[in-house]
Amino acid sequence: MDRKAVYNIALGLLIALSPIACAKPPEPVYQEQLFALGALVDITLWGVKPDLARRAAAGVTEDFNNIHNTWHAWQSSALTRINEQLKNSDPFVIDAELLPFLKRARELSLASGGLFNPALGKLIALWGYHSDERAPGPPPAAAAIAGLVARQPTMKDLLIEGARLHALNPALQLDMGGIGQGYAADIAVKRLRGFGIENALINASGDIRVIGKHGSRPWVIGIRDPHGPGIIASIELQGDESIVTSGDYERYFTYRGQRYHHILDPRTGYPSLGASSVTVLHDNATVADAASTALMVAGPKHWHETARAMGVTQVMLIGTQGTVHISPALAKRMRFEKTPAPKIQLSPSL
Ligand code: AMP
Ligand code: MG
Repeated sequence: MDRKAVYNIALGLLIALSPIACAKPPEPVYQEQLFALGALVDITLWGVKPDLARRAAAGVTEDFNNIHNTWHAWQSSALTRINEQLKNSDPFVIDAELLPFLKRARELSLASGGLFNPALGKLIALWGYHSDERAPGPPPAAAAIAGLVARQPTMKDLLIEGARLHALNPALQLDMGGIGQGYAADIAVKRLRGFGIENALINASGDIRVIGKHGSRPWVIGIRDPHGPGIIASIELQGDESIVTSGDYERYFTYRGQRYHHILDPRTGYPSLGASSVTVLHDNATVADAASTALMVAGPKHWHETARAMGVTQVMLIGTQGTVHISPALAKRMRFEKTPAPKIQLSPSL
């Protein structure tokens, strides 16, 4: 199933759990969809007058399009121009407005011990993921993968001094795909608040940030079952919270019966092993997005250490065999929706 389907599940659940109001007037919900960053984005506003809602949604659309055009990894963008310049060892100056996101990505990468590694652009391209649809065919040659892994590009190799960038490793190529949607959801919420909007949900194909409530009740989010149809669990969010899921089902290809997904382990150069999906709940969607990618790579045995290092406490990792590993803080809130219930392994407190 692709990202669109994940979105439909979240939306379907939201609708399914709306109170049935036969006699009451319809709820003041405004919804709009757009396509950006390779995915459907759903804007839901509660209790906002239609005219204001339309203007706010137009602002959010502009933000998403701007992020798409700035950070696109393979269509001509500010990022592809930066990547061209990073190939030389000379420092160069970039637009000041690009700096905060680059710095944030660098910090989060260092905090993850390099498991979230946006310096991996060359490897992601080698796997064929720098295209809207990966062409069918075999995985890359083992020697080509090993060659890139040996060059070890990391965010430590990216020096940011004032507005100057300097790559210490010519193998460094940036790809913000592991963090872009979370970042966009945070920017969108800032924009909505600028319009005085207090109750909203932004769903960038499974990367979700909410503010306020859905009327008198919390927002209800469905978490996709990575091994079957429908949702495995649901959770109520309110106030100011984000929930982000990374999964091996989002982008993958199959070759000779073997599935290869899009989240790569920087240590091996191959798709990460052990986790089918990771969900992170945090107040900030950018952090949750970087962490969900990093914890996919960390896998079922080591995710606690990476979660602690990144400062996230509400995590659910679904292993490739279906075991649900969950932190106590998230277990308290998550409602499992399948019978029989999955095997649940509670982690130590994070
Ligand atoms: P997400 O769905 O947030 O986990 O992001 C997955 C995307 O992040 C992939 O499609 C790649 O563009 C990129 N990516 C893959 N592996 C990594 C990694 N180890 N660190 C950072 N980004 C990655
Ligand atoms: Mg991510």
